[in-house]
Amino acid sequence: MSVTLLRSVPVLTRPAAALEPIIGGERYTHLLSAAARFRYRLAGRTIWNINSTAVGGGVAEILQALVGYVDDLNVPIRWAVIGGDPDFFAITKRLHNQLHGVRGQGYLGDGEAEHYQRVLAANASELLELVRPDDLVLLHDPQTAGLTGPLARAGIPVVWRCHIGVDWQNGATGAAWKFLRPHLASAHGFVFSRRKYVPSWMPEGLTWIIPPSIDPFSAKNQDLDADTVRAILATIGVLDHGSPRAPTNFVRRDGTTGEVTRSAAVTCDGMPGPGDPVVVQVSRWDRLKDMGGVMRGFADHVAPGGAGFLMLAGPAVSGVADDPEGAAVYAECVAQWRALPPASRERVLLVTLPLDDVDENAAMVNALQRHATVITQKSLAEGFGLTVAEGMWKGRAVIGSAVGGIIDQIVDGTGVLLRDAIDLRSFGLEVRRLLDQPDQAERMGVAAHAYIREHYLGDIHLLRYARLFDTLVNPAQT
Ligand code: UDP
Repeated sequence: MSVTLLRSVPVLTRPAAALEPIIGGERYTHLLSAAARFRYRLAGRTIWNINSTAVGGGVAEILQALVGYVDDLNVPIRWAVIGGDPDFFAITKRLHNQLHGVRGQGYLGDGEAEHYQRVLAANASELLELVRPDDLVLLHDPQTAGLTGPLARAGIPVVWRCHIGVDWQNGATGAAWKFLRPHLASAHGFVFSRRKYVPSWMPEGLTWIIPPSIDPFSAKNQDLDADTVRAILATIGVLDHGSPRAPTNFVRRDGTTGEVTRSAAVTCDGMPGPGDPVVVQVSRWDRLKDMGGVMRGFADHVAPGGAGFLMLAGPAVSGVADDPEGAAVYAECVAQWRALPPASRERVLLVTLPLDDVDENAAMVNALQRHATVITQKSLAEGFGLTVAEGMWKGRAVIGSAVGGIIDQIVDGTGVLLRDAIDLRSFGLEVRRLLDQPDQAERMGVAAHAYIREHYLGDIHLLRYARLFDTLVNPAQT
C-alpha cells in the first residue's frame, strides 16, 4: 500500500489589479502585458511550485502571494508540498544549516544520502502522476533538490531555487554542496537571491538572480489602523491588561474578514502599556536568527539606558513542520530569560504565536511589526530576510545585521546595518539611539517604505521569473 506524501496546496487567487494604486499605472500595465505574452508562450503548460511546507517561514509566505497573483493573471500555476519523516527533515535541516555556513552539523554520509533519496523518490513518483511532461517545475530549497533527477528523466524542465546562502564558502557549505550537487546535475536552471550564494561549479549560463518580494495586501502586510494594532496586541496578550481587545479585524487571503481571537503563549514578568516604546524581532526559533543575542544586547545595553520593552516573537514551536530545532532554541531562550536580572527580565517578552490559522498568525505578526518603535533582525546569516522588508514596508526603522539579503534591503538612510552581527554593544547603542530619537526613526521608516515599493514587490519578482521560464519554453528566442 502506498502512503501519500505529496500534498496539493489550494491556490487562492489574488486580484493583481489591487497592485495598481501602489505600483502605479505604468508598472501595472507592464505587468499585464508581460503576463499576456508569457501566457501565450507557455501554450497551456502549467508551472508547478514544490516546497516542503505550506505554512511558516519565508518560502511559504512568498508562494502564497505569488501563486495567487499568477492565477489571477490566468497563467496556469499549481503548488504542492512534499512529505517526509522526521529523519528526512532532520537531514534537510542540517543541509539548511550547512548552506548557512554552520559547522558541527555532523557528516552526512551514505545512510543519510540514501534516506534523502528514498523519501524524494517516493514523492517524485506521486508528483509524476500530476505533472505533465511539458509542464515546468520550480523546486524550492534543499528539501526538494532530490526531485530534480526523477522529474528531468521524465523530460520535465526543472528549475531549482535556493532561498538560502552565505556570502562566503567554508567546510560546511562545501559539505552541503557535495551532498546536493549530484541531485542537481540535470536541473535546467538555478535561482538564487544573491549572486554571492552561487557555488562556483554551477554553470553560469543556467544561473539566475531573483530576490524575493512581499505582498502589500497579505494579512502580514496590509494596513491596520492604530486601534486595531493595539487591540490585536491586547488580544494576543502582550499589552497591558487595561487595553481594549477590539477591533481585531483583518482581511484574509480569500477576501473574507478575519478576527484575531487567539492568544499567544507569552513568557513575561511585565508588559508595556499602549504608549511604551517597543523593540520587536519576529523570527523562527532558529539559532541563526540570534534571538538570544538580541535579548542579551537589549538587557545589557538598551534597558539600562532608558525606557522600552523587547518582544521576541516566533511561531508556536510545534507548528513548523520542517523546522525540528525550533523547540530546543525556544527552550534556550526561556532559560536565558529566566536568568536575566529582574529589572531587565520584566522588560523582555518571549512570544510564541499560534499557527492554527495562518492568516490570523500573519495578522498578529503584522500588528507586532506595526506597533514596534524599532524592528531588529540581528541574524547571524540570512538568505534574504523577509522580516526586514516587512518591517520597512510598514515604515518602521529596521536595525539588521550586514549579512546576506539584509545588505541589499537596508541601503543609505533606510535603516541601520550592523557591520558585526555579534557586537552586542553596537547593536544596543543603535537601538537606544533610535528609541531616543523617534524623529530619525520616522524619517528612516519613510525612506524604507519607498525603497521596498521600488524593489521588492510582487510585480518585479514575477517579471524576473517570467524571463527565466521564457528561456525554457522558447530557448531559441532568447
Ligand atoms: N513568520 C510568521 N509567523 C511567525 C514568525 C515568522 O509568519 O510566527 C514569518 C515572517 O513574518 C516572515 C517569514 O516567516 O514572513 C520568515 O521569513 P524570513 O525570510 O525572515 O526568514 P526564514 O524563516 O525564511 O529564514
